[in-house]
Amino acid sequence: MPERIIYLDHAATTALDPRVLDVMLPYLTTEYGNASSIYTLGRHAMQAIDRSREQVAELLHARPTEIAFVGCGSESDNLAIKGMAFASQKKGNHLITSSIEHHAVLHTCQYLERFGFKTTYLPVDSDGCINPDDVARAITDQTVLVSLMYANNEIGTIEPIAEIGRICRAKKIPFHVDAVQAGGAVPLNVTELNVDLLSLSAHKFYGPKGMGILYVRQGMRLLPQLQGGSQERGRRAGTENVAGIVGTATAFHLAQEELPQITPRLIALRDRLIEGMLTIPRSRLTGHPNERLPNNASFCFEGVEGESILLNLDLLGVAASTGSACTSGSVDPSHVLVALGLPPAWSHGSLRLTLGKENTNEEVETVIKALPPIIEKLRGLGM
Ligand SMILES: *Cc1c(COP(=O)(O)O)cnc(C)c1O
Repeated sequence: MPERIIYLDHAATTALDPRVLDVMLPYLTTEYGNASSIYTLGRHAMQAIDRSREQVAELLHARPTEIAFVGCGSESDNLAIKGMAFASQKKGNHLITSSIEHHAVLHTCQYLERFGFKTTYLPVDSDGCINPDDVARAITDQTVLVSLMYANNEIGTIEPIAEIGRICRAKKIPFHVDAVQAGGAVPLNVTELNVDLLSLSAHKFYGPKGMGILYVRQGMRLLPQLQGGSQERGRRAGTENVAGIVGTATAFHLAQEELPQITPRLIALRDRLIEGMLTIPRSRLTGHPNERLPNNASFCFEGVEGESILLNLDLLGVAASTGSACTSGSVDPSHVLVALGLPPAWSHGSLRLTLGKENTNEEVETVIKALPPIIEKLRGLGM
Protein backbone atom coordinates (compact mmCIF):
# COMPACT_ATOMS: atom_id res chain seq x y z
CA MET A 1 0.00 0.00 0.00
CA PRO A 2 1.29 3.52 -0.80
CA GLU A 3 2.68 5.46 2.17
CA ARG A 4 -0.17 7.91 2.46
CA ILE A 5 -3.72 7.01 1.72
CA ILE A 6 -6.16 9.46 0.22
CA TYR A 7 -9.28 8.83 2.27
CA LEU A 8 -12.43 9.64 0.30
CA ASP A 9 -14.93 7.46 2.14
CA HIS A 10 -16.19 9.72 4.93
CA ALA A 11 -19.77 8.55 4.38
CA ALA A 12 -18.65 5.09 5.55
CA THR A 13 -16.83 6.36 8.63
CA THR A 14 -14.50 9.11 9.83
CA ALA A 15 -11.33 9.11 11.91
CA LEU A 16 -11.70 9.99 15.58
CA ASP A 17 -10.84 13.66 16.13
CA PRO A 18 -7.83 13.82 18.52
CA ARG A 19 -9.71 16.40 20.62
CA VAL A 20 -12.50 13.85 21.05
CA LEU A 21 -10.05 11.17 22.12
CA ASP A 22 -8.67 13.59 24.74
CA VAL A 23 -12.04 14.08 26.43
CA MET A 24 -12.75 10.33 26.28
CA LEU A 25 -9.48 9.08 27.79
CA PRO A 26 -10.21 9.86 31.47
CA TYR A 27 -13.42 7.79 31.26
CA LEU A 28 -11.49 4.85 29.83
CA THR A 29 -8.91 5.04 32.63
CA THR A 30 -9.24 6.75 36.01
CA GLU A 31 -12.93 7.75 35.85
CA TYR A 32 -14.24 4.23 35.47
CA GLY A 33 -17.23 4.50 37.80
CA ASN A 34 -20.67 3.12 37.01
CA ALA A 35 -23.02 6.06 36.53
CA SER A 36 -25.69 4.31 38.61
CA SER A 37 -23.43 4.14 41.70
CA ILE A 38 -24.00 6.75 44.40
CA TYR A 39 -20.38 7.24 45.56
CA THR A 40 -18.19 10.01 44.12
CA LEU A 41 -16.66 7.94 41.32
CA GLY A 42 -20.12 6.98 40.07
CA ARG A 43 -21.43 10.51 40.38
CA HIS A 44 -18.55 11.76 38.24
CA ALA A 45 -19.69 9.41 35.49
CA MET A 46 -23.30 10.52 35.82
CA GLN A 47 -22.29 14.19 35.75
CA ALA A 48 -20.34 13.60 32.57
CA ILE A 49 -23.35 11.92 30.97
CA ASP A 50 -25.67 14.73 32.11
CA ARG A 51 -23.37 17.37 30.65
CA SER A 52 -23.14 15.46 27.38
CA ARG A 53 -26.91 15.12 27.18
CA GLU A 54 -27.33 18.88 27.75
CA GLN A 55 -24.74 19.61 25.08
CA VAL A 56 -26.49 17.44 22.48
CA ALA A 57 -29.91 18.80 23.43
CA GLU A 58 -28.76 22.37 22.99
CA LEU A 59 -27.29 21.66 19.55
CA LEU A 60 -30.56 20.06 18.41
CA HIS A 61 -32.74 22.73 20.10
CA ALA A 62 -34.26 19.97 22.22
CA ARG A 63 -34.65 19.22 25.94
CA PRO A 64 -32.06 17.02 27.66
CA THR A 65 -34.81 14.54 28.64
CA GLU A 66 -35.54 14.06 24.93
CA ILE A 67 -32.03 12.73 24.19
CA ALA A 68 -31.14 9.03 24.49
CA PHE A 69 -27.64 7.67 23.94
CA VAL A 70 -27.65 4.30 22.17
CA GLY A 71 -25.17 1.83 20.70
CA CYS A 72 -24.99 3.04 17.06
CA GLY A 73 -26.93 4.72 14.30
CA SER A 74 -28.54 1.42 13.37
CA GLU A 75 -29.78 0.94 16.92
CA SER A 76 -31.16 4.45 16.93
CA ASP A 77 -33.16 3.70 13.75
CA ASN A 78 -34.30 0.35 15.15
CA LEU A 79 -35.41 1.83 18.46
CA ALA A 80 -37.28 4.67 16.79
CA ILE A 81 -39.14 2.49 14.30
CA LYS A 82 -39.77 -0.67 16.35
CA GLY A 83 -40.32 1.35 19.51
CA MET A 84 -42.97 3.51 17.86
CA ALA A 85 -44.56 0.67 15.87
CA PHE A 86 -44.95 -1.69 18.81
CA ALA A 87 -46.19 1.10 21.09
CA SER A 88 -48.84 2.11 18.53
CA GLN A 89 -50.28 -1.29 17.60
CA LYS A 90 -53.71 -0.33 18.93
CA LYS A 91 -53.80 2.70 16.62
CA GLY A 92 -52.76 1.04 13.39
CA ASN A 93 -50.27 -1.08 11.50
CA HIS A 94 -49.07 1.10 8.63
CA LEU A 95 -45.55 2.48 8.17
CA ILE A 96 -44.30 4.86 5.51
CA THR A 97 -40.68 5.03 4.41
CA SER A 98 -38.80 5.41 1.12
CA SER A 99 -37.12 3.02 -1.27
CA ILE A 100 -33.68 4.67 -0.77
CA GLU A 101 -33.33 4.34 3.02
CA HIS A 102 -30.36 2.81 4.76
CA HIS A 103 -30.74 -0.89 5.53
CA ALA A 104 -31.06 -0.02 9.22
CA VAL A 105 -34.47 1.40 8.28
CA LEU A 106 -35.47 -0.87 5.38
CA HIS A 107 -34.66 -4.12 7.17
CA THR A 108 -36.39 -2.89 10.32
CA CYS A 109 -39.57 -2.23 8.37
CA GLN A 110 -39.27 -5.66 6.73
CA TYR A 111 -38.86 -7.22 10.18
CA LEU A 112 -42.01 -5.47 11.38
CA GLU A 113 -43.92 -6.86 8.39
CA ARG A 114 -43.52 -10.29 10.05
CA PHE A 115 -45.59 -8.92 12.94
CA GLY A 116 -48.47 -7.70 10.79
CA PHE A 117 -47.20 -4.24 9.88
CA LYS A 118 -47.54 -3.02 6.29
CA THR A 119 -45.03 -0.66 4.76
CA THR A 120 -45.37 1.84 1.94
CA TYR A 121 -42.00 2.36 0.24
CA LEU A 122 -42.23 5.77 -1.44
CA PRO A 123 -40.51 6.18 -4.79
CA VAL A 124 -37.96 8.91 -5.55
CA ASP A 125 -37.35 10.90 -8.73
CA SER A 126 -34.20 10.49 -10.84
CA ASP A 127 -32.28 12.83 -8.49
CA GLY A 128 -33.30 10.78 -5.45
CA CYS A 129 -35.83 13.30 -4.13
CA ILE A 130 -38.90 12.27 -2.18
CA ASN A 131 -42.04 14.20 -3.18
CA PRO A 132 -43.79 15.59 -0.06
CA ASP A 133 -47.15 15.18 -1.85
CA ASP A 134 -46.45 11.44 -2.05
CA VAL A 135 -46.07 11.38 1.73
CA ALA A 136 -49.41 13.18 2.17
CA ARG A 137 -51.12 10.76 -0.23
CA ALA A 138 -49.66 7.66 1.45
CA ILE A 139 -50.97 8.51 4.92
CA THR A 140 -54.02 6.46 5.95
CA ASP A 141 -56.00 6.16 9.18
CA GLN A 142 -53.77 3.16 9.97
CA THR A 143 -50.45 5.04 9.65
CA VAL A 144 -48.44 5.06 12.88
CA LEU A 145 -45.05 6.34 11.66
CA VAL A 146 -43.33 8.05 8.75
CA SER A 147 -39.57 7.35 8.65
CA LEU A 148 -37.42 9.12 6.06
CA MET A 149 -33.76 10.02 5.77
CA TYR A 150 -32.45 13.58 5.88
CA ALA A 151 -29.63 12.93 3.42
CA ASN A 152 -28.87 9.81 1.44
CA ASN A 153 -25.65 7.99 2.30
CA GLU A 154 -24.93 6.87 -1.28
CA ILE A 155 -25.87 9.77 -3.52
CA GLY A 156 -25.94 12.64 -1.02
CA THR A 157 -29.39 13.97 -1.92
CA ILE A 158 -30.92 16.12 0.83
CA GLU A 159 -34.65 15.55 1.31
CA PRO A 160 -37.29 18.25 2.03
CA ILE A 161 -37.58 17.21 5.68
CA ALA A 162 -39.12 20.40 7.11
CA GLU A 163 -41.88 20.34 4.50
CA ILE A 164 -42.61 16.64 5.04
CA GLY A 165 -42.53 17.33 8.79
CA ARG A 166 -45.22 19.98 8.37
CA ILE A 167 -47.44 17.49 6.55
CA CYS A 168 -46.97 14.82 9.23
CA ARG A 169 -47.54 17.32 12.02
CA ALA A 170 -50.79 18.54 10.41
CA LYS A 171 -52.02 14.94 10.15
CA LYS A 172 -50.71 14.09 13.65
CA ILE A 173 -48.48 11.29 12.36
CA PRO A 174 -45.17 10.78 14.23
CA PHE A 175 -42.16 11.53 11.99
CA HIS A 176 -38.77 9.83 12.38
CA VAL A 177 -35.73 11.11 10.50
CA ASP A 178 -32.52 9.16 9.93
CA ALA A 179 -30.14 12.13 10.04
CA VAL A 180 -26.98 10.03 10.31
CA GLN A 181 -25.40 11.53 7.17
CA ALA A 182 -26.65 15.04 7.94
CA GLY A 183 -25.37 15.15 11.54
CA GLY A 184 -21.94 16.50 10.68
CA ALA A 185 -23.00 18.37 7.55
CA VAL A 186 -25.91 20.71 8.26
CA PRO A 187 -27.38 22.51 11.31
CA LEU A 188 -30.15 20.43 12.91
CA ASN A 189 -33.07 22.09 14.66
CA VAL A 190 -35.76 19.57 15.60
CA THR A 191 -38.34 22.32 16.06
CA GLU A 192 -37.82 23.92 12.67
CA LEU A 193 -37.68 20.48 11.04
CA ASN A 194 -40.99 19.38 12.63
CA VAL A 195 -39.53 15.99 13.49
CA ASP A 196 -40.55 13.79 16.42
CA LEU A 197 -37.65 11.34 16.38
CA LEU A 198 -34.18 11.81 14.94
CA SER A 199 -31.23 9.42 14.66
CA LEU A 200 -27.52 10.24 14.64
CA SER A 201 -24.30 8.20 14.67
CA ALA A 202 -21.08 9.49 16.24
CA HIS A 203 -18.59 7.81 13.90
CA LYS A 204 -20.00 9.74 10.93
CA PHE A 205 -18.84 13.04 12.49
CA TYR A 206 -15.35 12.22 13.85
CA GLY A 207 -16.69 10.63 17.04
CA PRO A 208 -16.25 7.07 18.33
CA LYS A 209 -17.68 4.03 16.56
CA GLY A 210 -20.43 2.21 18.39
CA MET A 211 -22.31 5.29 19.61
CA GLY A 212 -25.65 6.68 18.47
CA ILE A 213 -28.14 9.30 19.54
CA LEU A 214 -31.93 9.13 19.42
CA TYR A 215 -33.93 12.31 19.89
CA VAL A 216 -37.49 11.51 21.06
CA ARG A 217 -39.91 14.41 21.31
CA GLN A 218 -41.60 14.70 24.70
CA GLY A 219 -44.95 12.91 24.66
CA MET A 220 -43.93 10.24 22.12
CA ARG A 221 -44.63 6.77 23.50
CA LEU A 222 -41.84 4.39 22.62
CA LEU A 223 -41.60 0.71 23.57
CA PRO A 224 -38.00 -0.01 24.68
CA GLN A 225 -36.27 -2.72 22.68
CA LEU A 226 -33.65 -3.62 25.29
CA GLN A 227 -34.90 -4.74 28.71
CA GLY A 228 -32.92 -4.48 31.92
CA GLY A 229 -31.95 -1.52 34.08
CA SER A 230 -33.64 1.84 33.81
CA GLN A 231 -30.79 3.70 32.11
CA GLU A 232 -31.62 6.37 29.52
CA ARG A 233 -34.98 6.98 31.27
CA GLY A 234 -35.96 3.38 30.64
CA ARG A 235 -35.50 3.70 26.90
CA ARG A 236 -32.33 1.61 26.74
CA ALA A 237 -31.04 -0.77 29.40
CA GLY A 238 -27.33 -1.30 29.93
CA THR A 239 -24.50 0.37 31.84
CA GLU A 240 -23.71 3.58 30.02
CA ASN A 241 -20.66 3.86 27.77
CA VAL A 242 -19.46 7.01 29.52
CA ALA A 243 -16.38 7.55 27.33
CA GLY A 244 -18.48 6.97 24.23
CA ILE A 245 -21.17 9.37 25.39
CA VAL A 246 -18.70 12.12 26.26
CA GLY A 247 -16.94 11.57 22.94
CA THR A 248 -20.20 11.65 21.02
CA ALA A 249 -21.32 14.95 22.52
CA THR A 250 -17.90 16.55 22.01
CA ALA A 251 -17.67 15.34 18.41
CA PHE A 252 -21.18 16.60 17.64
CA HIS A 253 -20.39 19.96 19.24
CA LEU A 254 -17.14 20.34 17.27
CA ALA A 255 -18.75 19.25 14.00
CA GLN A 256 -21.62 21.71 14.36
CA GLU A 257 -19.38 24.53 15.59
CA GLU A 258 -16.96 24.12 12.68
CA LEU A 259 -19.62 23.89 9.95
CA PRO A 260 -19.17 27.52 8.80
CA GLN A 261 -15.41 27.04 8.26
CA ILE A 262 -15.49 23.55 6.80
CA THR A 263 -18.59 23.57 4.58
CA PRO A 264 -17.39 26.07 1.93
CA ARG A 265 -14.10 24.17 1.58
CA LEU A 266 -15.90 20.85 1.18
CA ILE A 267 -18.24 22.32 -1.42
CA ALA A 268 -15.31 23.68 -3.42
CA LEU A 269 -13.52 20.32 -3.34
CA ARG A 270 -16.74 18.45 -4.15
CA ASP A 271 -17.53 20.65 -7.11
CA ARG A 272 -13.98 20.32 -8.42
CA LEU A 273 -14.30 16.51 -8.18
CA ILE A 274 -17.61 16.62 -10.03
CA GLU A 275 -16.17 18.85 -12.74
CA GLY A 276 -13.16 16.55 -13.14
CA MET A 277 -15.11 13.27 -13.20
CA LEU A 278 -17.70 14.49 -15.68
CA THR A 279 -14.98 15.06 -18.30
CA ILE A 280 -14.82 11.25 -18.52
CA PRO A 281 -16.93 9.98 -21.45
CA ARG A 282 -20.21 8.25 -20.56
CA SER A 283 -20.16 9.47 -16.96
CA ARG A 284 -22.94 11.02 -14.92
CA LEU A 285 -23.47 12.51 -11.50
CA THR A 286 -25.87 10.60 -9.22
CA GLY A 287 -28.03 12.47 -6.74
CA HIS A 288 -29.38 16.00 -6.87
CA PRO A 289 -27.11 18.60 -8.55
CA ASN A 290 -27.63 21.22 -5.78
CA GLU A 291 -29.62 19.70 -2.94
CA ARG A 292 -26.77 17.42 -1.93
CA LEU A 293 -24.38 16.93 0.98
CA PRO A 294 -21.35 19.28 0.83
CA ASN A 295 -18.97 16.30 0.93
CA ASN A 296 -20.65 13.91 -1.51
CA ALA A 297 -19.53 13.42 -5.11
CA SER A 298 -21.05 10.25 -6.57
CA PHE A 299 -21.07 9.01 -10.11
CA CYS A 300 -21.91 6.25 -12.52
CA PHE A 301 -19.73 5.24 -15.45
CA GLU A 302 -21.43 3.24 -18.16
CA GLY A 303 -20.01 -0.17 -18.95
CA VAL A 304 -17.61 -0.45 -16.01
CA GLU A 305 -17.74 -2.49 -12.80
CA GLY A 306 -17.67 -0.28 -9.70
CA GLU A 307 -15.74 -2.87 -7.73
CA SER A 308 -12.98 -2.85 -10.36
CA ILE A 309 -12.68 0.93 -10.09
CA LEU A 310 -12.29 0.58 -6.32
CA LEU A 311 -9.56 -2.04 -6.60
CA ASN A 312 -7.62 0.10 -9.08
CA LEU A 313 -7.97 3.15 -6.83
CA ASP A 314 -6.86 1.12 -3.83
CA LEU A 315 -3.63 0.25 -5.64
CA LEU A 316 -2.97 3.99 -5.79
CA GLY A 317 -3.84 4.42 -2.11
CA VAL A 318 -7.26 5.95 -2.69
CA ALA A 319 -10.05 4.73 -0.40
CA ALA A 320 -13.46 5.13 -2.05
CA SER A 321 -16.75 3.26 -2.26
CA THR A 322 -19.30 2.11 -4.80
CA GLY A 323 -22.08 3.50 -2.64
CA SER A 324 -22.99 1.95 0.61
CA ALA A 325 -20.37 0.10 2.65
CA CYS A 326 -22.95 -2.63 3.13
CA THR A 327 -23.34 -3.33 -0.58
CA SER A 328 -19.61 -3.85 -1.19
CA GLY A 329 -18.95 -7.45 -2.10
CA SER A 330 -22.42 -7.95 -3.51
CA VAL A 331 -22.92 -8.21 -7.26
CA ASP A 332 -26.32 -6.55 -7.30
CA PRO A 333 -26.39 -2.80 -7.90
CA SER A 334 -27.47 -0.83 -4.87
CA HIS A 335 -31.20 -0.42 -4.16
CA VAL A 336 -30.66 3.34 -4.23
CA LEU A 337 -29.32 3.41 -7.80
CA VAL A 338 -32.10 1.04 -8.88
CA ALA A 339 -34.66 3.40 -7.32
CA LEU A 340 -33.26 6.28 -9.39
CA GLY A 341 -34.21 4.28 -12.48
CA LEU A 342 -30.67 3.81 -13.74
CA PRO A 343 -30.24 0.93 -16.21
CA PRO A 344 -27.88 -1.88 -15.09
CA ALA A 345 -25.12 -0.86 -17.54
CA TRP A 346 -24.87 2.37 -15.54
CA SER A 347 -25.81 1.31 -12.00
CA HIS A 348 -23.07 -1.35 -11.89
CA GLY A 349 -20.45 1.34 -12.51
CA SER A 350 -20.97 3.46 -9.42
CA LEU A 351 -18.33 5.39 -7.54
CA ARG A 352 -18.87 7.41 -4.36
CA LEU A 353 -16.23 9.88 -3.23
CA THR A 354 -17.03 11.46 0.14
CA LEU A 355 -14.76 14.20 1.42
CA GLY A 356 -13.71 15.10 4.94
CA LYS A 357 -12.15 18.02 6.73
CA GLU A 358 -8.58 16.76 6.22
CA ASN A 359 -8.77 16.35 2.44
CA THR A 360 -6.68 18.73 0.32
CA ASN A 361 -6.79 20.24 -3.16
CA GLU A 362 -3.76 18.13 -4.13
CA GLU A 363 -5.55 14.93 -3.15
CA VAL A 364 -8.54 15.89 -5.26
CA GLU A 365 -6.32 16.72 -8.24
CA THR A 366 -4.52 13.38 -7.84
CA VAL A 367 -7.83 11.50 -8.04
CA ILE A 368 -9.02 13.59 -11.00
CA LYS A 369 -5.83 12.60 -12.88
CA ALA A 370 -5.97 8.96 -11.81
CA LEU A 371 -9.55 8.12 -12.75
CA PRO A 372 -9.78 8.61 -16.53
CA PRO A 373 -7.06 6.06 -17.40
CA ILE A 374 -8.59 3.55 -14.95
CA ILE A 375 -12.02 3.85 -16.56
CA GLU A 376 -10.51 3.67 -20.05
CA LYS A 377 -8.49 0.57 -19.15
CA LEU A 378 -11.49 -1.21 -17.60
CA ARG A 379 -13.69 -0.40 -20.58
CA GLY A 380 -10.95 -1.78 -22.86
CA LEU A 381 -10.99 -4.99 -20.85
CA GLY A 382 -14.73 -5.18 -21.26
CA MET A 383 -15.30 -4.90 -17.50
C1 LIG B 1 -24.03 4.84 8.67
C2 LIG B 1 -25.50 5.00 8.58
C3 LIG B 1 -26.37 4.34 9.47
C4 LIG B 1 -25.89 3.35 10.48
O1 LIG B 1 -25.08 3.92 11.50
P1 LIG B 1 -24.12 2.96 12.35
O2 LIG B 1 -23.67 3.79 13.49
O3 LIG B 1 -23.00 2.57 11.44
O4 LIG B 1 -24.94 1.80 12.79
C5 LIG B 1 -27.72 4.58 9.36
N1 LIG B 1 -28.20 5.42 8.44
C6 LIG B 1 -27.41 6.07 7.57
C7 LIG B 1 -28.02 7.01 6.58
C8 LIG B 1 -26.04 5.88 7.61
O5 LIG B 1 -25.26 6.51 6.73
